[in-house]
Amino acid sequence: MSVLVINSGSSSIKYQLVNPDSGAAIASGLVERIGEETGHIEHNYGDVTREIDAPVPDHAIGLEKVLELFSEVGPSLTDGSISAVGHRVVQGGKYFSGPALITDEVQSLIEELCPLAPLHNPAHLKGIKVARRLLPGVAHVAVFDTAFFQSLPDEAATYALNREVAEKYQVRRYGAHGTSHQYVSGKVSEYVGRTDLKQIVLHLGNGASASAVIGRKAVETSMGLTPLEGLVMGGRTGDIDPAVIFHLARVGGMSIDELDNLFNRHSGLKGLTGENDMRAVWKLADEGDANALEALDVYAHRLVKYIGAYTATMGGLDALTFTAGAGENDSRLRAKVCERLTAFGVRLDEEANAIRSKEPRVISAPSSSVTVLVVPTNEELAIARQAMSLV
Ligand code: ADP
Repeated sequence: MSVLVINSGSSSIKYQLVNPDSGAAIASGLVERIGEETGHIEHNYGDVTREIDAPVPDHAIGLEKVLELFSEVGPSLTDGSISAVGHRVVQGGKYFSGPALITDEVQSLIEELCPLAPLHNPAHLKGIKVARRLLPGVAHVAVFDTAFFQSLPDEAATYALNREVAEKYQVRRYGAHGTSHQYVSGKVSEYVGRTDLKQIVLHLGNGASASAVIGRKAVETSMGLTPLEGLVMGGRTGDIDPAVIFHLARVGGMSIDELDNLFNRHSGLKGLTGENDMRAVWKLADEGDANALEALDVYAHRLVKYIGAYTATMGGLDALTFTAGAGENDSRLRAKVCERLTAFGVRLDEEANAIRSKEPRVISAPSSSVTVLVVPTNEELAIARQAMSLV
């Protein structure tokens, strides 16, 4: 039994064939530079990696080539072993608080939500349409990045923007990375053996977000209408006074597209240091680069601000969990954040923090009043399991 998980972007398709029970990735690959002069496809199965460099004019041809690779290199997708196709969809708006079996109606709703996620939903739709056509005999399920955050209380999801305008344009906090926050907070509950935890999950990848979860319900998250709000990210500003936009438009003569690009791609760590990869930022910092040292402080300060705010709104904190690329691998970053939380009774176990592992683990000392954990995320597996829940 397996689930094909597809993440279709504007010029790429990433996929993984997952065993939803064991969690094993059976095969994986990606199609890159769709629509450009040179395309690239990579398919991995067992010890075999097959790469193709050829133009991929559109998503349909990309996915057709992927299916050819599955039949040439393996494993077969046509022997009845795949139970579902899970599609990652960024924006589910107010319509989806869980996974949805894709019908024409669901497809239309995803389409209706395109204005809220203009970079993502149209690309997901392309993947969904092609995959439904090429793999007709199997259930297709959409798994939404926003679904976990549909449970947010109104007081957390509502912006103090003019109500008429907000309602007309569906402006509210939708959040993102929800599949990861749900998966990781669920793992923490299992690991600690409690279902009533007040927890904070820090998903620190290239994109970064924090969530507050009570029991199995999300009550706060740092990303907003779009993934731009909240923490300092690889290339995104995170929180910033929106009047900076008016200022840069009026005084700096910048257009909306220029500002979008500046805030989403050329800010954050990249804008502060020239590097958007956390490892490269540390390298600069180790060489004494003042901008990198400051950027790391800005990054940690923002995180601590969110942890404090979420602890206050939840009325306490039982578990604080780091996940995603930097969260899972960067022990120095975790230490930098936790040393600023001693007033909350957080005590890190330095040895446990230094261990590298793919397993969930506690990194706080027994005397810590908050259990601090590292829990690797696995969005593909979470999507596969959610897809299976509807089959
Ligand atoms: P994405 O958001 O693209 O899925 P990932 O979850 O893969 O991102 O995380 C990417 C981030 O994780 C990058 O900033 C990278 O530098 C950081 N990262 C990965 N490994 C390490 C490491 N060993 N030390 C510090 N940062 C790391």
